[in-house]
Amino acid sequence: MREIFNNVFEENEKILTINLAPGFSVYGEELVKIESKEYRVWDPYRSKISAAIKNGLKNFPIREDSKILYLGAANGTTVSHVSDVAKNGVVYAVEVAFRPMRDLIEKVAKKRTNVIPILADARKPFSYCYLVENVDLIYADVAQPDQTDIVYNNAVAYLKSGGIVCVAIKASSIDSTKDPHLVVDEEIKKMVKNGFELIERLDLEPFDKAHEMVVCRWK
Ligand code: SAM
Repeated sequence: MREIFNNVFEENEKILTINLAPGFSVYGEELVKIESKEYRVWDPYRSKISAAIKNGLKNFPIREDSKILYLGAANGTTVSHVSDVAKNGVVYAVEVAFRPMRDLIEKVAKKRTNVIPILADARKPFSYCYLVENVDLIYADVAQPDQTDIVYNNAVAYLKSGGIVCVAIKASSIDSTKDPHLVVDEEIKKMVKNGFELIERLDLEPFDKAHEMVVCRWK
């Protein structure tokens, strides 16, 4: 067992996080007991952050006490691992659709005090200003054509100076006719123009087709 990042482990080529809600599996992931601690296998085919780690991510942005604004929480698959890693921090989990939000509440937020579920549209960041404080990290996985604008508007509203954004970009949701790398190039150009500094970009194949993880620093 090797700790590859703070609170993220690797054993037999599997990525693991320590289960903050022992005994509970969120999405059918394997639970592994090692020396009295329970770990959850972080599936790279189900979670893009795990896929990025498997593909050699260098700048892992989540700390034990990070405050994170997570856009596109869905039913909490990735949120749950982010919550394991940021065990003394907080994850503001924004999701616009009711059904996945219901699962996020039942399977994740009810068992983890560091997850704050927010049923809202990430295009309207001020609609959750009464719940969210300034954050260290924005993670975005909304798979929308205007995702980088969504990220920018949330950064203006909530990201600390020098904070990090991590964006999972699905090229086909922006332009399915162009080369996916060129689509991501254009998105990065837009982000740089908006005041972000590119730190790292990473292909998520073979775990996710035509997706890239883009990590930037806010001015
Ligand atoms: N991040 C999730 C995970 O790894 O477990 C998967 C996210 S899924 C690819 C995209 C999610 O973004 C969907 O659940 C969708 O409802 C949500 N979404 C799309 N547009 C949104 C918006 N404007 N505001 C908030 N959530 C949105």
